[in-house]
Amino acid sequence: MSQHSDITSPDDSALDQLCEALVALGPELDRTDAWPSEQLRLCGEAGVFRWFVPRRWGGLEWSDADITRGYLRLGAACLTTAFVITQRTGACQRIVGSENEPLKEQLLGPLVTGESFATVGISHLTTSRRHLSRPVLAAHETTEGFVLDGYSPWVTGADHASTIVTGAVLENGQQILVALPTDLPGVAIPEPPRLVGLSASHTGEVRLSNVKLPHECLLAGPAENVMKIGVGAGTGGLQTSTLAIALASAAIDFLEHEAIARPDLGTPGAELRREQLDLTDTLLALASGNAVCTNDELRARANSLALRASQAALAAAKGTGYVVGHPAGRWCREALFFLVWSCPQGVMAANLCELAGLD
Ligand SMILES: Cc1cc2nc3c(=O)[nH]c(=O)nc-3n(C[C@H](O)[C@H](O)[C@H](O)COP(=O)(O)OP(=O)(O)OC[C@H]3O[C@@H](n4cnc5c(N)ncnc54)[C@H](O)[C@@H]3O)c2cc1C
Repeated sequence: MSQHSDITSPDDSALDQLCEALVALGPELDRTDAWPSEQLRLCGEAGVFRWFVPRRWGGLEWSDADITRGYLRLGAACLTTAFVITQRTGACQRIVGSENEPLKEQLLGPLVTGESFATVGISHLTTSRRHLSRPVLAAHETTEGFVLDGYSPWVTGADHASTIVTGAVLENGQQILVALPTDLPGVAIPEPPRLVGLSASHTGEVRLSNVKLPHECLLAGPAENVMKIGVGAGTGGLQTSTLAIALASAAIDFLEHEAIARPDLGTPGAELRREQLDLTDTLLALASGNAVCTNDELRARANSLALRASQAALAAAKGTGYVVGHPAGRWCREALFFLVWSCPQGVMAANLCELAGLD
């Protein structure tokens, strides 16, 4: 790929080349669980990080529908890389959406070019540790800023990030959203745990002990529900469904390829493809602002398809697919991620009903 040739649309042939490179790097990524530095470097060089950012900050400001088409391609080529980019983008969008102009000036330039990496650790405000009586990350305000204590349970690529967008809860129950520099005293990033899939995303805890954060790092709040302020990553958005559909399409591609020599695979492959194309149409309609169903309804169907398509690919690949290193086995493990990633209560309930055979 030529240097600095930005991908200008999801139909650009430069995106085909990038995806081919990501597919080729996939087996090594799964074998070593090493952080996808080369994949992210290639994405940065192809201008992928600019898709999501307004022109004012040096971005390409792609429409939601085009971003969705781009993620469908990246997610099918390498789910780990696409997932890491969603977390990076979540951080960028929270920074862009804040009213802290000096912080935007400081952080956004190197993020857009790919020189720096930022990530989000906000699940404890939305879907993680919500049943506990005390917040897992607490803050109190001082004259200079805030002091943070506790932990953020799930942060992707924290060990590679210069900034983590995270949230904490004050004594009065109000929340703050901050851009936490990872080199502040009191920030500890333990080695990330091995996961069932996507271990190369290096997702794990970030611990904060008496971390003194100046007011200059505040992105939003204090407010009752800081995630509802401005734009950015919440739960129940479309990107989780997008990546689930992307994974399913990779598995169905494999099934179709196998079906060329094995006619018995033709009908199941065609049926899964029909469902995937139908879900893709629904996804793109929602991304274009056409409310054909709720985001949660789409997510429940996308989760189901990712699980069934990946297992169909494994069944077709037989024992060969069960050997570590074959993509079919990896797709099955990766599909399980959608049962737990940023999964709203209603989606979890729908998935459980399907698994229990209840309609
Ligand atoms: C691979 C991976 C990557 C992720 N990346 C990110 C990221 O980059 N940024 C981010 O912000 N988030 C991220 N997440 C977090 C994700 O979106 C969810 O928030 C997370 O999966 C919720 O799981 P949990 O175990 O923390 O949930 P919890 O609800 O905290 O459940 C933990 C345990 O508590 C118990 N429990 C749960 N509910 C109850 C209850 N009501 N009563 C009693 N006990 C209960 C259960 O035993 C459960 O196993 C990631 C998650 C994973 C797995």
